[in-house]
Amino acid sequence: MSDYLRQRVLVTGGAGFLGSHLCEKLLQMGYDVLCVDNFYTGRRDNVIHLMDNRHFEVMRHDICIPLYVEVDQIYNLACPASPIHYQFDPVQTTKTSVHGSINMLGLAKRVKAKIMQASTSEVYGDPIEHPQTEDYWGHVNPIGLRACYDEGKRCAETLFFDYYRQHGLQIKVARIFNTYGPRMHPNDGRVVSNFIVQALSGEDITIYGDGLQTRSFCYVDDLILGFVALMQSPDDFTGPVNLGNPTEITMRELAELILSLTGSSSRIVYKALPADDPIQRRPDITRANTFLSWKPEVPLEEGLKKTIAYFKHLLNV
Ligand code: NAD
Ligand code: UDP
Ligand code: UDP
Repeated sequence: MSDYLRQRVLVTGGAGFLGSHLCEKLLQMGYDVLCVDNFYTGRRDNVIHLMDNRHFEVMRHDICIPLYVEVDQIYNLACPASPIHYQFDPVQTTKTSVHGSINMLGLAKRVKAKIMQASTSEVYGDPIEHPQTEDYWGHVNPIGLRACYDEGKRCAETLFFDYYRQHGLQIKVARIFNTYGPRMHPNDGRVVSNFIVQALSGEDITIYGDGLQTRSFCYVDDLILGFVALMQSPDDFTGPVNLGNPTEITMRELAELILSLTGSSSRIVYKALPADDPIQRRPDITRANTFLSWKPEVPLEEGLKKTIAYFKHLLNV
């Protein structure tokens, strides 16, 4: 394709776990990709294999600061995503979701770009309705330890819909449920990376609480196809749309599965449950299936095997 015909896509948070997979996919699809990241939780290693590609560019920048570039599409993924990281500097977390979204929406407005927000199942908080449909308004503690993330993301959704109504922006809002896969940060405290790293290094597997809380885990490749399908959906489809895998599992079952897949002899130990930790979570993905013809295809066991292989390589075990 001639270079001047290529569409330019901005991926904020492009050096993170999901962002790096998205950059890779967009390059494969023939886009020019601008990855903007402040490297707060992202790593150069996540995108090092793309650096030789002349259609790929990395820019160190914090999206809380205005950004003037010319692009056709924006995927706004910048935000620390794991509790350890987003609670380290909670004010900065809220700023990234709120000021960062305002800047990216202002940019989209100026250049008339389509813009997708990486929202989260955390907008549902500790849900009272189960499974969660997009019509559920959520159950969030506005002053709790998770609020900087949850309320920041909720406010970002408000901003997206107000820019849509007030300025006619083309917006897309994805509510992402727990996603796992290669390039998860080994120390970010998320359950899949924790259990795998613990199992591979022979450390105790730390279950928080009684381990009967549930989550539903989506493999990263499936999620990225969902992002692209959402961005390519008709203009009148804004979302919000749940993207996740509806197969629900308890943390105890997850620990057992990872122990068996790694052949590890690590012991399971029980630790205190963090405050405001949701008891159950499972997406209703009817909307994604109906409007995007999307559903996840990779079974948990298969995705875990690929993730374990990645961590084996990373940890050199
Ligand atoms: P990640 O921490 O690996 O990636 C986030 C990236 O954003 C990092 O590269 C980080 O350096 C960058 N970043 C943070 N603040 C920034 C700022 N102010 N300016 C520029 N860059 C900044 O996390 P991830 O799992 O890849 O998550 C990506 C997005 O998806 C996040 O918005 C997250 O809230 C959302 N999400 C992820 C999950 C999941 O399970 N992984 C679930 C729900 C929502
Ligand atoms: N902005 C940006 N890049 C642009 C255009 C705008 O970062 O290309 C920022 C700008 O600094 C502003 C924010 O986006 O603070 C919101 O822009 P908008 O045009 O909606 O509002 P205003 O400029 O009127 O505050
Ligand atoms: N969890 C756990 N052990 C760990 C890390 C997490 O039992 O070492 C639990 C955590 O309390 C939560 C679930 O696993 O109930 C998912 O945690 P994660 O941080 O991955 O995601 P989130 O809570 O944001 O869904």
